[in-house]
Amino acid sequence: MVHNFNGGPSILPQTVFEQAAQAVLNYNNTGLSILELGHRTPTFQAVMDEAQALLKELMQLDSDHEVMFLHGGASTQFMQVPMNLLDEKDTAAYADTGVWSSKAIKEAKLYGKPEVVCSGKENNYTAIPKDFAVPNDAKYFHITTNNTIYGSQWQKIPVTSNVMVADMSSDILSRQLDFNQFGLIYAGAQKNIGAAGVNVVVVNKNILGKVKRTIATIMDYRNHIKEGSMLNTPPVFAVYVCMLTLRWLKEQGGVAAIEKLNDEKAALLYKEIDDNSLFKATVVPEDRSKMNVCFVMHNPDLEEAFLTFTKQNGIVGIKGHRLVGGFRASLYNALPLSSVQVLVNAMQDFAKNNQ
Ligand SMILES: *Cc1c(COP(=O)(O)O)cnc(C)c1O
Repeated sequence: MVHNFNGGPSILPQTVFEQAAQAVLNYNNTGLSILELGHRTPTFQAVMDEAQALLKELMQLDSDHEVMFLHGGASTQFMQVPMNLLDEKDTAAYADTGVWSSKAIKEAKLYGKPEVVCSGKENNYTAIPKDFAVPNDAKYFHITTNNTIYGSQWQKIPVTSNVMVADMSSDILSRQLDFNQFGLIYAGAQKNIGAAGVNVVVVNKNILGKVKRTIATIMDYRNHIKEGSMLNTPPVFAVYVCMLTLRWLKEQGGVAAIEKLNDEKAALLYKEIDDNSLFKATVVPEDRSKMNVCFVMHNPDLEEAFLTFTKQNGIVGIKGHRLVGGFRASLYNALPLSSVQVLVNAMQDFAKNNQ
């Protein structure tokens, strides 16, 4: 048995793998593979419609918020967001909480004037910045709700008068939030909602259409909304896997139920890290991510041996990002509590063997 703690692409529900595999061979007894269906057929339209409806339902979106499934990964949104929301002289506020935020800031410079209103850089991103002000004239305030690489997370979404924009790639649908408070949310699917190759973008349609620049057709959110994410060929298989994963989430009891489980998983692992004399967490307690748990060993010389030991226990994907070192255990929605227990047991056994 393999316990998959990969940072992304990452674990999805086993039933989703089975259904997706079957759909590649014979989709719903049509005699056709999902891979050879025309995207404008009623058969695929039903998939797209259900994926959008499930996302709206699970996020409890109001009628101002539109859902899109787009190509390009979250990294494309780093530029597509400012392209749609900023003119060259406009400012937008950004919180710099790690690698992904920094990349978003870099791209925003191509389309407007991003202003970094707070940064965790001096502390090597081990905490979420507190006490900062966002200028009123900033067209939006961009945050990365969960910092996949450094393992920190905004436990409270800051309240400002600005339009809120959020990169939720690694914690979308993992916890209850008022998603309607955001002007725009984007997320690459490969961490919590499906297969790589598709982005989810949720936008309050009232914030669109305010810029003077000409936006290339394929980059303009309004065109994708108008065409129901079928402006061009959507990533059909990736959308299908999202749809299956969203169905699964609904069956689990939706976001509230999965949040409870995610809380339990994170609490179990952080407790072991705090209690076990060999390990320490890298992020301050109040900002620790419930999705990506980063930790190191007091004695770095033992890290290689611990990694080998966990492999022997079927644990994969816990090597930390090269910028942080140590370990990162990603506890996405589909990861069962039992896998976290296996990791905790391995940490305890390893500690016993290395006293
Ligand atoms: C993984 C990740 C990205 C990058 O996603 P791509 O789909 O590879 O472009 C961006 N932001 C966050 C928070 C991520 O976790």
